[in-house]
Amino acid sequence: EVRVRFAPSPTGYLHIGSLRTALYNYIYAKQQKGKFIIRVEDTDRTRIVETAIENLIDSLAWAGIEHDEGVFLDKDSNKTIQKGEYGPYIQSERLDIYKKHIDELLKKEKAYYCFCSKERIEKVRDQQKEKGETPKYDGHCKGLDDEEVQRRLAVGEQHVIRLSLPTESDISFDDAVRGTVTINTKDMDDQVLIKADGFPTYHFAVVVDDYLMEITHVVRGEEWLTSTPKHVYLFKAFGWEAPQYIHLPTVLNKDKKKLSKRQGDVAVGDFKNKGYLPEAMVNYLALVGWSPNNNQELFSIDDLIEQFSFERVSKTGGIFDIDKLNWINGQYIKSSSPERITDLAIPYLKNAGYITDADVEGRYEWIVTMVKSVQEKVSLISEIPQKVSFFFADELEFESEKAKQVLEGEQVSALCDAFINELNSIDEVDDEFTATIFKKIQKQTGVKGKSLFMPIRVMVTGQQHGPDIGGVLKVLGKENILKRVKYVKE
Ligand code: GLU
Repeated sequence: EVRVRFAPSPTGYLHIGSLRTALYNYIYAKQQKGKFIIRVEDTDRTRIVETAIENLIDSLAWAGIEHDEGVFLDKDSNKTIQKGEYGPYIQSERLDIYKKHIDELLKKEKAYYCFCSKERIEKVRDQQKEKGETPKYDGHCKGLDDEEVQRRLAVGEQHVIRLSLPTESDISFDDAVRGTVTINTKDMDDQVLIKADGFPTYHFAVVVDDYLMEITHVVRGEEWLTSTPKHVYLFKAFGWEAPQYIHLPTVLNKDKKKLSKRQGDVAVGDFKNKGYLPEAMVNYLALVGWSPNNNQELFSIDDLIEQFSFERVSKTGGIFDIDKLNWINGQYIKSSSPERITDLAIPYLKNAGYITDADVEGRYEWIVTMVKSVQEKVSLISEIPQKVSFFFADELEFESEKAKQVLEGEQVSALCDAFINELNSIDEVDDEFTATIFKKIQKQTGVKGKSLFMPIRVMVTGQQHGPDIGGVLKVLGKENILKRVKYVKE
């Protein structure tokens, strides 16, 4: 059975690059009918941010990425709970497990105690750097005899435990994206496995946990590629079989640099707040680093599960193209129900001061009609207030000089009169009115086509292009339209 995991460290928000990692794990698990596990890697106690776990799980849930095992959020208490047979799934709760396993490595002489002070290590590094060598631990404590080690431990001397690498030996593994990767231990460091605070390092905990949780495929960002030889060596040292590794290309910005906060939004929560739809986000992110074997661009999650493969994950970084994301988001907004888009837009409309709770209660249908009239014109939910602003303007605002000129045409006055006539003959603007009004004005004035439609549109909206005019008329209502049309006559 395929078992994959997403293993975030609770150091802040969920980065969209990490969301993509989680997504590929999820897709692969679903495709293979395997299990998807969420494990929290919190052994670096200095970097922990409170409520980061809650935030991470929340962001995943928003994106519709569900896991089978691991850390969950209890809806009622909003506290973390854990489910599954391989727990605990939070590393800080597994310290006894790491203790047991480090003892095993020590016994096998695959690890050793190191009592070197920070100062000494820094000095060694400085000397190595001066000589132009890559700095690494010089193995000073590697040969300590057992008696000395025991004596120093007994008096409580500060120490770490390091991996004992052979001096010159090739370590190889197959990466599904990168192919075979080989590195010689002479270019590697005797990695710290247990830190001075007694906590394991990421490198040690990740190996023990991936093994004990029976992870079959490790799908993670390529920033971990250089750490993988250490992990592979650890698997070997324990006598365990390593999982299949799949390192995903980094998500880059347009300048081909790692996507970072400085150039804009990177937190999943920011995208949610801007009014991106989760399906659009998932659809787009899937394409950053993976491509289908056709030129399809819109993918439901089921399409992705069907078509995804690691063979088509690229080696080179995937560029995060916000324009493409916006286009995809627009497509999803277009194809969503007006009610859904309305519900998403309501907070933004309230914020803009266009509607109140009373409107939501009392004339929800009117809000839907309004939102529907601009639904095809936006790529973000947050653009909706600006698009509907003309409905709320007291005076007609022309979007351009050209729009204004439309109303200077010869026949405009006649159009106005006919329009006012028709409006005065009804109680309420309804579907029947919007379906027949243009024919009626045409009949009265003899004006047709663009010369008819354009002045009417500009008369009520101030814009030459815009939402469906029938919807606009309904949203404005009889009195509002009359006010606007009369204003044109003056
Ligand atoms: N805790 C690591 C991170 O924050 C996980 C790396 C891995 O998947 O092995 O990215």
